[in-house]
Amino acid sequence: MSIINLIAIDGPAASGKSTLAELIAKKLNYFFFDTGVMYRAVTLAALDNVTDLDNESLVTEVANRIQIDVQPASKQDGRVMDILVDGKDITWQIRTPEVDHNVSKVSAYAGVRKAMTDQQRRIGERGNMVMVGRDIGTVVFPDAKHKIYLEASPEERARRRYVEVQKRGESISYEDILTSIRKRDDLDSSRAVAPLKPADDAYVIDSDGKTIDVVLQEALQILGKPVS
Ligand code: C5P
Repeated sequence: MSIINLIAIDGPAASGKSTLAELIAKKLNYFFFDTGVMYRAVTLAALDNVTDLDNESLVTEVANRIQIDVQPASKQDGRVMDILVDGKDITWQIRTPEVDHNVSKVSAYAGVRKAMTDQQRRIGERGNMVMVGRDIGTVVFPDAKHKIYLEASPEERARRRYVEVQKRGESISYEDILTSIRKRDDLDSSRAVAPLKPADDAYVIDSDGKTIDVVLQEALQILGKPVS
């Protein structure tokens, strides 16, 4: 399936994919779509409805049943968009440590991935989109016109995430964030279905020690777009 004007950005947790994607989308007037919110929404719904998240078939049922939607931001509280599940605003509930802790388990289930991948393909076919995730360039849209894989060391990513959560007034330590990031990296890269890895034809950007501006310039050059 050849997709016109779809930019795939993959990479590990907190590598800055969403920030980069948002800036590219703004610059090119593309739609920004973060697929991580879908796996987070399924995890939140599963935590609310299933007593044992090890029960793959029950969690998969939840993934198939719920309606996930994204809408323009309705509040100015730092959100980029509203995330809705069955019409309910869950924009911030999907960012809790409990969801962080369970999302990689839920997203390793083949049935959950199939449900989400189908929805992502339907959305991506509209084109003019920057789609962010773990497997966009490898599985969801292997024919995407442009593929970027953004990485950074776990320590750098934990530092960035720590600054973010502090701004939101949440109390979680740097060490806990680092442990959670390392655990998610392990689970996301070692799962059987659609593991986290760069596509063979992805352009890899290592953002360690680089400002977001520098990373943006590098990305725009890869995309063949004017950098000023
Ligand atoms: O990007 P974010 O950290 O919000 O993603 C949350 C989790 O969702 C990831 O750790 C990963 O387990 C899962 N995910 C995925 N495939 C994607 C996007 C996210 O497996 N395309």
